[in-house]
Amino acid sequence: MSVLIIGGGINGAGVFRDLALQGVDVLLVDKSDFSSGTSSATSHMAHGGLRYLENGDFNLVREAVSERNLLIENAPHYVNPLPTTIPIFKWYSGLLNAPLKFLGLLDKTVERGAMLIKIGLLLYDSFTRSTGTVLRHRFMSRSDSLARFPLLNPDVLCTATYYDASILAPERVCTELICDALDMGGHAQVANYVSAFGAFGEEVRLRDELTGEMYTVKPKLVVNASGPWIDKVNQSLKRDTALVSGSKGSHIVIDNYQLRTAISNHEFFFENDDGRIVLICPLADKILIGTSELFCDDPNHVCCTPEEVDYFITMILKVFPKAVVSKDQIVFSFSGVRPLMFGKSSDPGNISRDHRVLLLSPGQGIDFPIYTLVGGKWTTFRSLAEKATDQTLITLGRKRQYSTRNLSIGGGKDYPQGMDAEKRFLDNIILETGFEAHRVKELFDRYGTRAANVASFIAGETEETDPCLDNHAGYTRGEITFLTRHEYVLRLEDLILRRTLLAMLGEISVGLIVELAQVVGDELGWSESTRKDEVDDVLSVLSRKHGVKLC
Ligand SMILES: Cc1cc2nc3c(=O)[nH]c(=O)nc-3n(C[C@H](O)[C@H](O)[C@H](O)COP(=O)(O)OP(=O)(O)OC[C@H]3O[C@@H](n4cnc5c(N)ncnc54)[C@H](O)[C@@H]3O)c2cc1C
Repeated sequence: MSVLIIGGGINGAGVFRDLALQGVDVLLVDKSDFSSGTSSATSHMAHGGLRYLENGDFNLVREAVSERNLLIENAPHYVNPLPTTIPIFKWYSGLLNAPLKFLGLLDKTVERGAMLIKIGLLLYDSFTRSTGTVLRHRFMSRSDSLARFPLLNPDVLCTATYYDASILAPERVCTELICDALDMGGHAQVANYVSAFGAFGEEVRLRDELTGEMYTVKPKLVVNASGPWIDKVNQSLKRDTALVSGSKGSHIVIDNYQLRTAISNHEFFFENDDGRIVLICPLADKILIGTSELFCDDPNHVCCTPEEVDYFITMILKVFPKAVVSKDQIVFSFSGVRPLMFGKSSDPGNISRDHRVLLLSPGQGIDFPIYTLVGGKWTTFRSLAEKATDQTLITLGRKRQYSTRNLSIGGGKDYPQGMDAEKRFLDNIILETGFEAHRVKELFDRYGTRAANVASFIAGETEETDPCLDNHAGYTRGEITFLTRHEYVLRLEDLILRRTLLAMLGEISVGLIVELAQVVGDELGWSESTRKDEVDDVLSVLSRKHGVKLC
């Protein structure tokens, strides 16, 4: 084997796809499920990072805006332009602080006023102007803003709306990148629930976390893509590094029809008096609210605390004081740790989100080089993967053959452009499978053009009909079997938390969990006691990590 990638979050998956595309034999392992680390805890935004302009991170913002635009084109089934509205309560605040921050003379963030926001948005637009993938920003007067968003705080002076992009299902993008790479040939292999735990000479030691079995592999080089765990992984490979400092962030998902209607298809992006960023954005028919920033050393055990929940609710009421919001509307919560480049700032919000690829040469008892991916955002995974792949290819003495710049992701391939093309695509599936139109549309909304594969699998697998699950009218046994067989589902939580949005959108119940354990268990050959253990584990994970208490 040429390359071992440790970590199957978005960055590891990105490198995996790029190396597979170049024909390199590569193995990707993750100690848990793919995209179960930080990549499952994002704000669901593909964005340039407007506020990073203040830190002087112009190159990062330019790169991220460009990657955002590529994502809209390459993964249109999951990534879509998102109107983002900033309610503004001050005219001039932050004007002096921003240049001071830029010059490194100030470490504290304050609320930004209209003038500073205008300057930032002009700059932001200038990065995206050439492609026209998204619209330019515009300001709206107080009266127009209140007419457009009636629940908005009447103290608002005006609003500014600019465009970023939303990612409906970041975890599914990660899975699809992995599936795309596997489709490129047998030279690319993956194993979830396999951890790298040691190294000696030319060997890396791996452990199957489900069976306890041990293996050794002899890669020519290792890519350490383990996000907030990179220093721990380097340590296990006999390298002492201090490359990242963790910053914990949480989100809640609420079911609130009044507020969901009030925000329409807009994300609201604003700040607390101390400059901390808050976002309220649509997530299907629910609302996602985040995020916090707290230094954190332990990425294994993070969850949204009651203090964070109180903070989020206070922030919603700051902008929408007439909204009726309560804790019992929370259907899901999640937390993750940002792997930020080690920085000196006392405020994690001020640490750069930039990334780099660091080479650790062979030595200290290890015969292979390690490329460590440091920092980075979900949005920039492709460009970070490109950098890591280019360096890897040089080490292997090979040349890049293909670019990933315009490479579609999963169900974004051959995506129909416009309503007529979409109708033709759906009609074809209906003709081939005999499925009802609404069911085919449901699959298309969930999987993009991969809906054709899912539908033909279901049609071939099930002899007559494929009835809905007893506990969820939107899913069938055939669809769950497809996901289990084709998307590396090994545990029940993989399906519930990462291959579908069932838990995140609050569509889960004990009955559904038991039913899903039956379907997944039939496919994976689980015994009755394994099924029961899986159900218990899912209930425990939902309660401990996601604040979901089911009975
Ligand atoms: C609250 C929050 C909000 C965010 N919002 C956004 C956003 O809206 N947009 C954006 O662009 N970015 C956002 N980010 C940043 C983004 O999520 C991260 O930069 C990105 O997901 C990091 O991905 P990764 O692949 O490097 O790390 P991870 O996703 O953490 O992947 C690392 C993987 O390594 C595995 N691993 C660890 N140790 C081992 C081992 N010994 N052996 C095998 N595998 C191992 C882990 O299981 C994990 O799956 C946000 C981050 C947070 C925390």
